[in-house]
Amino acid sequence: MGFIFKGFGSSGTFAHGVHPPERKGFSDGAPIEVIPPPKKVMLPLLQHVGAPAKPAVKPKTDVVLGDKIAEPGGFVSTAHHATISGKVMKTGIVTLTNGRHVPAIPIKAGNEEQLSGQALWEDIFGGEWPRDVDNYSSKEIVDAISAAGIVGLGGAAFPTHVKFVPNEKKPVHTVLVNACECEPYLTADYRMMLEASAPIITGALLAGRAANTKNIIIGIEDNKPKAVEVMKKAAAGTGITIAVLKTKYPQGSEKQLIMAVTGKEVPLGGLPLDVGIAVSNVSTVAAIARAVVRKKPLTHRVVTVTGAGIKNPKNLLVPIGISIGELIEYCGGLTKDAARLISGGPMMGFAFANLDAPVTKGTSGITVLTHKDVQKEDETNCVRCGRCVDVCPMNLVPTKLALASRHKDIELAERYNIMACFECGSCAYACPASLPIVQLVRTGKAVVIAASKK
Ligand code: SF4
Ligand code: SF4
Repeated sequence: MGFIFKGFGSSGTFAHGVHPPERKGFSDGAPIEVIPPPKKVMLPLLQHVGAPAKPAVKPKTDVVLGDKIAEPGGFVSTAHHATISGKVMKTGIVTLTNGRHVPAIPIKAGNEEQLSGQALWEDIFGGEWPRDVDNYSSKEIVDAISAAGIVGLGGAAFPTHVKFVPNEKKPVHTVLVNACECEPYLTADYRMMLEASAPIITGALLAGRAANTKNIIIGIEDNKPKAVEVMKKAAAGTGITIAVLKTKYPQGSEKQLIMAVTGKEVPLGGLPLDVGIAVSNVSTVAAIARAVVRKKPLTHRVVTVTGAGIKNPKNLLVPIGISIGELIEYCGGLTKDAARLISGGPMMGFAFANLDAPVTKGTSGITVLTHKDVQKEDETNCVRCGRCVDVCPMNLVPTKLALASRHKDIELAERYNIMACFECGSCAYACPASLPIVQLVRTGKAVVIAASKK
């Protein structure tokens, strides 16, 4: 790529991390396709970080695309909207890909006309997008984000309005748009940059306006030269900076991205706001543009369906609540040697088996691995090589965290800051003994959380 961003005293990268095989080639050349509207969607009331949403419609109510069906259950929560037109059915329970059982509102399509195909694409991302956003007030933007039920679409699903509510004690001086998509296999954000750059730029400007800052930076890794080119063109004349970063995993994690772009370190246990930065994913800012400019809620998202276990890998624009099985079927189904389904990518995703699980606002991809992909060496004893420590981007000591988890030693786990682990998987990837470090850390964190509630 040649040019690596070195602004604000940064080096265009972060310390530690790993270089897993990228495997983006399955789907990075596949333009986004609009999946036909399904006959039914299941909309979970908890598909975001925070409190569950509360139903705002009764069974048998007729709804059209975009009608509100659930209210936020608190400040850190979000509304949800009908993602197809149809009839609301009795609230049921769905099992999400992370294994959680949560209440969900079903909507069944009847004979209503559904917005679909190119018309749906145009409605969501097409047409003109303003560059002058000064006529919108910060409050107007934050209210529109909240009303639209927007959460972080990179996978975190944190309610977006919370990041942009003005905070006098911790003002935001930089909006950082996360376009790294460092997780292997996934290409949804990449295709969004190639095919929907205009709403992304408008959304980034609106995010800056909401936070009262003109300092807006879009961080893209240097393994996506076409996206860099498109976004540079689209951002010309807006004052937005495109920062090209050295490709490394997990650069898409907020703290590592902040370090790579600004050289600032978010304190352990702290938030980006502690260093005056609001981070938003690139697809999320496109949703912000739609919410503010067109007053339309978040009803659809782009999902990558990929891997050697999928017959025809694709990037799809899908309604939230559609079953994952329908996405796989649309992609020609599973190959004979498909072995493991993962919601997300192989580094941070969750393995699941239930094809009825719905796509949620945080579903960025479905990766299907084959038997060959998942063959792994047998677990052996720790050889004390220290590689896990060398690669941990949070400067943690994964061996100690694993030990604390095995012994349910809460004091040891807390002493070694287990809660600062964001389960990036770098340690497990680097471990020559094939130790399941991330699973152990997950268990250890659950034990610490349970103990803190007693
Ligand atoms: S300990 Fe946690 S943060 Fe550190 S490498 Fe392992 S999974 Fe990533
Ligand atoms: S990488 Fe694996 S074998 Fe090496 S010290 Fe860490 S846990 Fe032990």
